[in-house]
Amino acid sequence: MAAQTQAADAVWRERVARALAESGQRRTVPRQAILDWMAAAGAPFSAEQVVVALEQQQGISSRSTIYRLIDWLVAQGWLTRIYNTDDLHTYVRIQPGHHHMAVCTQCGATQVISDCAIEESIQPVLTATNFEVHGHMLELYGLCGPCRAVLARDPQQRGSGPIQPERASQQP
Ligand SMILES: [Zn+2]
Ligand SMILES: [Zn+2]
Repeated sequence: MAAQTQAADAVWRERVARALAESGQRRTVPRQAILDWMAAAGAPFSAEQVVVALEQQQGISSRSTIYRLIDWLVAQGWLTRIYNTDDLHTYVRIQPGHHHMAVCTQCGATQVISDCAIEESIQPVLTATNFEVHGHMLELYGLCGPCRAVLARDPQQRGSGPIQPERASQQP
């Protein structure tokens, strides 16, 4: 479900590889494995989830490389951070540019909203307050279509937080 609404894996992977090379960073085995894993991730992931996955799947122990690479990817606009209510930040692949994320609190599916007219729509308020805006952050949360359909049939399934199944297994 989430995979459909995120940036295409292969395109993201290829563009990030090019951007890394252009920034002078070497193509090391751990970096390639981290990017491969991220490009295949179908749901928002935490840094620790990447650490555990690479250790278990490939025997690569590279916590500091993962954290540094995530910082770089966020700074360059290739990942965006999802601010979850329980303080566990997760990340989603994006293409650089202005956008907002809509996050389903039931299943964790994310949608990128790139059509943003927020500043235009509140311009009268901004004018009235004599405030010059230089940027904004906004994250939308709610329920995706498939989850609303499930909950309409069975309200008992309403979860207590986002992406419960994945979340339970990734806590250190
Ligand atoms: Zn959902
Ligand atoms: Zn915006």
